[in-house]
Amino acid sequence: MNTFLIYSKKCWVDAKFVEATLHIHENKILNIFFTKHKIENIPFLDYENLIIMPGIIDAHVHINEPGRTHWEGFDTATKAAALGGVTTLIEMPLNANPVTTNVKAFDIKKQATKNKLHVNCGFYGGVIPGNTNDIEPLLKAGVFGIKGFLTHSGIDEFPNISKSDLEKIGPTLAKYEAPLLLHCEFGESEKINPKSYKDYVSSRPEEWELNAIKIALEIQEKYNTKVHIVHLATAKGLKLTNTRKKQTNKLTVETCPHYLYFNAEDIPDASPIYKCAPPIRDKENNDLLWKGLLNNEFDFLGSDHSPAPPEIKKLEEGNLFEAWGGIAGLQFTLPVLWTAGLKKGLTLEKLIPLLTTNPAKFLGLENTKGELKKGFDADITVWSNDEEFKVTENIIAHKHKATPYANHTLKGKIIHTFVNGIQVVKNSELKTFNAGKLLLKK
Ligand SMILES: [Zn+2]
Repeated sequence: MNTFLIYSKKCWVDAKFVEATLHIHENKILNIFFTKHKIENIPFLDYENLIIMPGIIDAHVHINEPGRTHWEGFDTATKAAALGGVTTLIEMPLNANPVTTNVKAFDIKKQATKNKLHVNCGFYGGVIPGNTNDIEPLLKAGVFGIKGFLTHSGIDEFPNISKSDLEKIGPTLAKYEAPLLLHCEFGESEKINPKSYKDYVSSRPEEWELNAIKIALEIQEKYNTKVHIVHLATAKGLKLTNTRKKQTNKLTVETCPHYLYFNAEDIPDASPIYKCAPPIRDKENNDLLWKGLLNNEFDFLGSDHSPAPPEIKKLEEGNLFEAWGGIAGLQFTLPVLWTAGLKKGLTLEKLIPLLTTNPAKFLGLENTKGELKKGFDADITVWSNDEEFKVTENIIAHKHKATPYANHTLKGKIIHTFVNGIQVVKNSELKTFNAGKLLLKK
């Protein structure tokens, strides 16, 4: 029988650190004792001063399987997730082939996860021109929300939608209280020097984000539906979202580790490893993103892990225009944020909810995940906030080793990860496979 106790002086329970022993039984937290509590014949794991917290929930991940499994697949992505303390992830609809824009494609994707889920995995469906009638069946089939792009997604089978496409699905989304996740960029692209990072940034200006956010807010207001702004990268966007949030609780906003860790000034030319969309902007902007984060203006943080093979990332040619736009970072979300955040006054008390409780609430999983609580799923991350490590190729579990975090020394090391009561990672190495479950929105 799977029953054991884990203890530390720093357990994150009820939004504070306490000394506690968690009794894990089967896949749940059976009980919490607010002391060092041993029980005869039950294994006791003493984690002393390590942090025990709810498993990270990454609500923004691109996995690419089936169809582009050579970019990233469920096996490698969920191993990387587990090593990074991520116990639940939600996968985006555009990178697999077929794209997840109808129930048939959703079924194919669910099939593709068989024997490959090392952490829990749920899915979003997608909105593209012409699939209005597929949205309700997708929601009934259990997707956690509907994702759309207001500009080219990079995947031809997943074309961008216009405001009128969103108007067609607004009432359905409102009826199911399902979030519309919008990639907010909207504008005309210009030809520029393909190797200049500065030119790349100016080709996707802040106005693109602001234009699109305005459309998102109009849809939110018109249909009184849930709207989620993914990967907000321009701090000016927060002014718009903050204003709208005063009128509604149906608007949520996310940003990603790379916007908080890197600055455009430090990104060399001809280095598409840093390419993502919207682009990583200048330090002045990114400092304001931090300010917004510390001021609770973001609802949660997601990795936006979106890798591609080196040849599609154009790593040799250094062509920023032809390269796939996406950063590989699923495994390093927590240490990246903690390392960058320490210089900005980030506290654990601020960071942990942004990775656990808040995404759980966004996904409607707040009664089973996102907290260490009696009766909740035993999805648990144990880590050291002091220990440093270097991102070397041998520890990267993503399908491809290329990541802009390579060779960076990060603070905050994941030591153990439990998924559904099973120890998937022990002493920073994979221990047990296939502990993850496929999650469907109820
Ligand atoms: Zn994304």
